[in-house]
Amino acid sequence: MSRTFLIIAEHRDGKLRQVTAEALQAALLASGDGDRISAVLLGSGTEPLAEELSSFPLSEIHVVDDPGLSAYNPEAYTAVLGELIEAVRPDAVFMGHTAMGRDIAPALAAKLQAGQLSDVIAIERNDGDGTVLFTRPIYAGKALEKKTFVQFPWVVTVRPNNFPAAPSLEGHRAPVVKAGIAAPSQLRTIVKDVVRKTSGKVDLTEAKVIVSGGRGVKNADGFKPLEELAALLVGAVGASRGACDAGYCDYALQIGQTGKVVTPELYIACGISGAIQHLAGMSGSRVIVAINKDPEAPIFKVADYGIVGDLFEVVPLLTQEFRKV
Ligand code: FAD
Repeated sequence: MSRTFLIIAEHRDGKLRQVTAEALQAALLASGDGDRISAVLLGSGTEPLAEELSSFPLSEIHVVDDPGLSAYNPEAYTAVLGELIEAVRPDAVFMGHTAMGRDIAPALAAKLQAGQLSDVIAIERNDGDGTVLFTRPIYAGKALEKKTFVQFPWVVTVRPNNFPAAPSLEGHRAPVVKAGIAAPSQLRTIVKDVVRKTSGKVDLTEAKVIVSGGRGVKNADGFKPLEELAALLVGAVGASRGACDAGYCDYALQIGQTGKVVTPELYIACGISGAIQHLAGMSGSRVIVAINKDPEAPIFKVADYGIVGDLFEVVPLLTQEFRKV
């Protein structure tokens, strides 16, 4: 029996977020021959985004373009997606485990009377019987569990940076369908200004390289060498809660159990002790480098490379060496 999968596209600053292509890749892994994968795109002035999305291996793209959806509003987005889902009746919905995904996925699961699995990091499909095994971290990343759904429909959120982005196909143009749905007028948001609390241009949850600072950076100025290294490596700056609590940086940078969960290719922890709550947010990084004065610091237990030394000497040296590459 052929199934219908629906991807919820996310975008920011007029560009598709990478997690959209990753959610599509997850759906491709979970789907079988003959299954259809379509996407839904919400926003205002979405034409260029729909154009970009149409080159991905999708059967169609449902677009709801309404000025009332120009800024993310959980009630309006959930109402519109709920209506669309009533019409499309997908067997599975896939989206990023982002702030928006965490917000919307449970509401959509309730609407669809679906089972939900959040923060999925791996998918294995048995083509013989069609069962799909989903892997997700539990207990703040200390263990992994493997789960399967016993029936359709499903709602799945995928951790950013864990699945490769689905490739766009040369010459492919998925049809764009305008869904005749409008944002509920009483739920419109009027945005006067957006104040972004990030460091630099790279989104922390999608960054391939993160240079992170802890209480060891001593003060707000102590982040400067880290910012320099991050900019050179086209990465983002993150922080421990210790650094945020001390007022050295904004909480938007916090990584960990009560902050952001990140899985970059390279995580450089500078002056971070490695408390379990911090590890919960970064231990899935591909390569971890720890710089700490204390050779006994717990961060060295999870690090692939450890440098015992003063971060104010080591970080500028690393920047100097990377500049030569
Ligand atoms: P510290 O533990 O003080 O470590 C500073 C490190 O810097 C030390 O290892 C020291 O040797 C080193 N150092 C000092 N100077 C230098 C130097 N010049 N060069 C090199 N190294 C130097 N924490 C998080 O990070 N994220 C979370 O989401 C989070 N959630 C939490 C939730 C709860 C419910 C609780 C109770 C705690 C949570 N915490 C979280 C806090 C966590 O327990 C730690 O307190 C925090 O991570 C410590 O931050 P730190 O490593 O920067 O500071």
